[in-house]
Amino acid sequence: MILHVLGSCSGTEPMPGRHHTSVSLETGGKLYFLDAGENCSYTSYLLGIDQLRTDSIFISHTHMDHTGGLPELLWNLRKLCTLSPENEERLRGRTIRVFLPDLDVFDGVCKMLRGSEGNYETVFTLEPHLVEDGELLSSGLSVSAFHNYHLGTPAQGEPWRSFSFVLRAEGRQILYSGDFRDFSELLPHLGGSDLVLLETGHHRAFELCRELLHSGVPFGRVLFFHHGVEILRDFEGELALAREVLGDRVSFAGDGMRIEL
Ligand SMILES: [Zn+2]
Repeated sequence: MILHVLGSCSGTEPMPGRHHTSVSLETGGKLYFLDAGENCSYTSYLLGIDQLRTDSIFISHTHMDHTGGLPELLWNLRKLCTLSPENEERLRGRTIRVFLPDLDVFDGVCKMLRGSEGNYETVFTLEPHLVEDGELLSSGLSVSAFHNYHLGTPAQGEPWRSFSFVLRAEGRQILYSGDFRDFSELLPHLGGSDLVLLETGHHRAFELCRELLHSGVPFGRVLFFHHGVEILRDFEGELALAREVLGDRVSFAGDGMRIEL
């Protein structure tokens, strides 16, 4: 399984060398996206990642730093089909699943796509799915979602709007925090993760390292992503603080980073 960091920033103003949050996973000959911040399609294309293998896209919540690149990602799949008959054949009849916690946003994205070239007529089908607690996908890559409190508690009868994910494939497990409020939200789902992705847009990395250490739960490596302005102001200093707690198990994500699991 290969993880690519396509965008490592939280919802900051434009930052040199960094884009908003997105990660892709390659496993079993398929490609999956976790969040789709600005430029995720552009970055993955330039990294040489084969987007025609896209199987599913998972959006943790619909803030712009996680969805801004979604229309362009979907638009680019159609564009790639127009480049060669071989490309078109590879996507013909395929279904690409898009999981979001708010399907109104998917409708808006589709309206945008239809307003682009060719009424967004494609040889493949986009299939929207609502993200809810529990298993979202079980073939190839297994993906389970659990809600967090980043967007607060929904009103009576309203759905949860912000999620974290647990992903499993090839005997490996990844916890993807999305944006979250408190470490305790992640703790029940953390155990046995070979890689823990934790966001720093709302948290200090070294504090989360301490929580991880004191949790007593077994985990492998830790990758901090979704960087906020505070961490970007003193990237090396924050990394040093985190490594004082967990040593070389800790990395800070940068755009274009590749991790093999
Ligand atoms: Zn965010």
